Amino acid sequence: MCLSEFDIIRTYFQREQQSDSVIAGIGDDCALLAVTPGQYLAVSMDTLVAGRHFPLAATPYDIGRRALCVNISDIAAMAATPTWFTLGLTLPDANHEWLKQFSQGLFDIANRFHCALVGGDTTRGPLSITIQVHGQAAPEHVLTRDKAQAGDTVFVTGTLGDGAAALAMLEGRLAVDENAQHYLYERFYAPEPQVRAGLLLGPLSHSAIDISDGLLADLGHIARASDVAIEIDVEAIPLAPALASIVARSPQIWREWSLTGGDDYQLAFTVPAAHIHTVQQLIESGQLQATAIGRVNSTDTTPSVSCQLHGKPYAPPSTQGYQHFVAP
Ligand code: ADP
Ligand code: MG
Repeated sequence: MCLSEFDIIRTYFQREQQSDSVIAGIGDDCALLAVTPGQYLAVSMDTLVAGRHFPLAATPYDIGRRALCVNISDIAAMAATPTWFTLGLTLPDANHEWLKQFSQGLFDIANRFHCALVGGDTTRGPLSITIQVHGQAAPEHVLTRDKAQAGDTVFVTGTLGDGAAALAMLEGRLAVDENAQHYLYERFYAPEPQVRAGLLLGPLSHSAIDISDGLLADLGHIARASDVAIEIDVEAIPLAPALASIVARSPQIWREWSLTGGDDYQLAFTVPAAHIHTVQQLIESGQLQATAIGRVNSTDTTPSVSCQLHGKPYAPPSTQGYQHFVAP
């Protein structure tokens, strides 16, 4: 079957509109969207290039899921609610089966987060996917990188190191049991965007960021933007139960993964003393999965991120270290 650009759009991307906020969606020159009065519009874009942001062997279903998950993660980090997205799709050829699976993965995530596909562009070329995602945020609760203050406690949601461990597994550098295999596969291809956590934390935190480049690199963004010194307790960093046996075997490698590995798409956020109790209650009641991992101090020199291990200064490993990891 020979598919034209318009066949592709109509068959795979034009769906029944489920959102009242979409006045005009796919099919006109622009999408027309009704923004809720008094809300900020949050806009973010990420491109995924085959072989760089996902393995060449990735299934189209998984590419679709991952592309939208990593984009929605940025919306979550600002305490915004995802609402609409556009899709720039560059394809080497118009393959029916590929498009069917890709759009299935994409819409599985879109439907779960009530985020409507409202437009895009379709071109021929090496496989790459660009998504621009839009969200709405309450101005008084929006979270940015530049409001961390001395005295804040640093938290992270979920567990860290999963993204780097998953990539090592997918690239054949890490052998794991079946249980961990499934866990890591899902963490890589469908990293759960922390939208609910972001919305809970909006009124309770000074600043937040999503961890895409690695904990230390991303906290470095908060430290610079807020002009503070951040201190991390390495032993407090939360670890996925599925990785426990790997970590026991190679604690040093896991530290590298969790501090510098990236691709975790959890939120790091800083909470002032006044709200610590409320955040702890949310954690204890199971409404929020998060762990305190450090603190924000004032700086009279340059912004910094430093680590301690059991109270002693700890020099974080180099970012390249994990590449030397060989499957046990
Ligand atoms: P134009 O020529 O006006 O730029 P296009 O032919 O590029 O329009 O696209 C036609 C319609 O299909 C537009 O509404 C556009 O937003 C939508 N569209 C194109 N590609 C995609 C895609 N990959 N996903 C969703 N919508 C798309
Ligand atoms: Mg166009």
